[in-house]
Amino acid sequence: MYLKSLELSGFKSFAKKTTLSFNQSITAIVGPNGSGKSNLAEAFRFALGEQSMKSLRGKRGEDLIFSGTTSAPRSNRAEAHLVFDNSTRLFDIDFPDVVIERTVFRDGVNEYAINNSKVRLKDVHSLLAHANIGASSHHIISQGEADRILSAHPKERRVMIEEALGLRVFKYKKDEAEKKLAKTNENKAHVESLRKEIAPHLRFLKKQIEKIEYVEKTKKELIDAYVTYFAKEAAYIQEQEKKLINTEPLVREQEELAKEKEQLIATARADTQSDVQRELQKEIAEMEKVIKDLEQEETALALERGRAEGVLSAEQKNNTTEEIIQIPKESFEEFKEHVGEMSAVGEDADTFSNLRQSFDALVSGVREFINTYMVPTRSNSVDTDELIAEVAELQEKHEQIQKKIEHARSAITDLQKQLVNEETQHHVSEKRLLEIQARSTEIRAELAEAQSLKTRVQILKAVFEEDHREALGLLGKEAVTYEVGEYAEEERSLQENLKKNIERMKIRIEELGGGGDEVIKEHKEITERDAFLKSEIDDLEKTIESLQELIAELDTELTNTFNEGLVSINKAFNEFFVTMFGGGSARLVAVRASEEEEDKDIGIDVAVSVPGKRVKGLMALSGGERALASIALIFAMSQVNPPPFLILDETDAALDEANSRRYGDMIENLSKRTQLILITHNRETMSRAGVLYGVTMGGDGISKLLSIKFDEAVKVAK
Ligand code: ATP
Repeated sequence: MYLKSLELSGFKSFAKKTTLSFNQSITAIVGPNGSGKSNLAEAFRFALGEQSMKSLRGKRGEDLIFSGTTSAPRSNRAEAHLVFDNSTRLFDIDFPDVVIERTVFRDGVNEYAINNSKVRLKDVHSLLAHANIGASSHHIISQGEADRILSAHPKERRVMIEEALGLRVFKYKKDEAEKKLAKTNENKAHVESLRKEIAPHLRFLKKQIEKIEYVEKTKKELIDAYVTYFAKEAAYIQEQEKKLINTEPLVREQEELAKEKEQLIATARADTQSDVQRELQKEIAEMEKVIKDLEQEETALALERGRAEGVLSAEQKNNTTEEIIQIPKESFEEFKEHVGEMSAVGEDADTFSNLRQSFDALVSGVREFINTYMVPTRSNSVDTDELIAEVAELQEKHEQIQKKIEHARSAITDLQKQLVNEETQHHVSEKRLLEIQARSTEIRAELAEAQSLKTRVQILKAVFEEDHREALGLLGKEAVTYEVGEYAEEERSLQENLKKNIERMKIRIEELGGGGDEVIKEHKEITERDAFLKSEIDDLEKTIESLQELIAELDTELTNTFNEGLVSINKAFNEFFVTMFGGGSARLVAVRASEEEEDKDIGIDVAVSVPGKRVKGLMALSGGERALASIALIFAMSQVNPPPFLILDETDAALDEANSRRYGDMIENLSKRTQLILITHNRETMSRAGVLYGVTMGGDGISKLLSIKFDEAVKVAK
């Protein structure tokens, strides 16, 4: 037995605290009409969490609270406690007893408690579902309600049967699983949207990280490049430094040469021509003048001599004028011939005009000759001896003067020789000057080269230091830790390429920027968050999957259990029916719940056949027959899956004596597995009860309960 007691206070007509103990398997409640018996059945429903006010015969919560009478004040609340024995763990909680409690207040607020702990209605439902108990279930059959199972829609009937078969718990589980599934899907969508929200940022960070990694890689390459570069460059610079020379001796030499040159130039300036030279030149000039004079004198003498000799010869040979002018005439002819030649070869105008001049000169010469020589000869007769003496004198004079000229010429030659000697000596200093010039040029070139090398080394060193500083700043000590390498001239171009490469890498690093620890940290955080969300989604998906599996399993279990249960119920239903009607047949038939093709929901119809009657079906049954049929079905349902208790409110009202007995037998049979609370006016039923409660209502409108004996009960019931 599970049901221990029901305790009420302020509930409907039970204004005062009232306790019913159910320590027998059959309890009968008797009493006159309107005394409050049905209120007790409703108190069960109320305590079990019934939400339908109609089932509780009220409109509002307030209707359930004792409303007061002329002699008793109204109650503020209605309370009902149901106490169950939980030693067999009928309920899924670890208590020996389970007390389910409900209170309703005048403002309509309901409170629920399980074992004195406030709970939600949901918790009450969940607890009861596991125990195959429900507020509006098959096991509380209100007055006139037995017929409901027959008059219900096939779909409703199916629900009733499901409940009777204890499938409520599966339904409940399924509902819960479906709710959870919906919630999980919602959560999943939420988490997915969170993940989507961070996705662009994560992508951005990933790119940043790739950049940072690339920069790090490039930095490592740059360090290697720098180390190689510095090792070689240091070697190269050392080698260049070795080539540097001490320029001091060169500078000194240059200075000395400059000094010497200066002196040479000074001397040359002061004495461009030596005194000797000047003297010689002077002498030469004088001598040249002397010679010129002598030559003029000689020309005059030659003319004089020629004239004298001519006169003499004319005198001596008695020559004619014609002969005398023979020579000029010949010359003239010769000239004419020459001019002819000139014209023949086509000489130019200048040449021709020169010839004209020569010709004119010749003509005037001829005239002068005639005047000088021809005229006197014609007028004077000269002494020949005198002439001979004159000629001799002139000859001597002429010869003397020629000798003088010759002498002077040789003197000039001597002087020129001396002058040449003198000038040659002067050339010696010029040669030195040239030497100095050449050497100075050489020294200048050498010094320029040395200076250029020095500058080059300085530049190399400055660049090296700058690179060193830059490398240290950019990459730290590692980049400037090297050992001076081997020098190889041919590697210079490689070194230049390496430098270019270094510059390129530096630019790349600068362009990409460093990024930093912040980005790495953020990327780590966001990646972790993303992974967390991903695992959440995975978990949720697993949950969804398992919920779907659970729902499918529950569906299968529901279907299977229902089908098996239906077979068993049908068997019992038919047996009870045959017992009650003394024949005939009854069964439940699965039908499509609605006309629509797509409707997969199964409904349950009732098919009956009463013995000896042609007409079949529920419509053909009398009131009593309907009552018998419904009792048969209710009992069949209870037998297949016995509920912990069954409350039957005047279900036996329409039974005749014979059927009342059969009903009594069936009740006794049922009570072996289910506790029965029977509200009845039926004697036969009363006689089967282990305990009887009488309900009375006095003039104060308050229901009272008393435990009574069978005889009293019969009396009370009447
Ligand atoms: P019957 O044998 O005719 O079915 P019963 O014994 O089942 O009668 P109930 O229907 O349980 O009688 O009781 C009805 C009585 O309860 C009525 O007298 C009604 O006035 C009273 N009652 C119902 N609600 C309240 C309430 N809120 N306060 C006081 N009395 C109430």
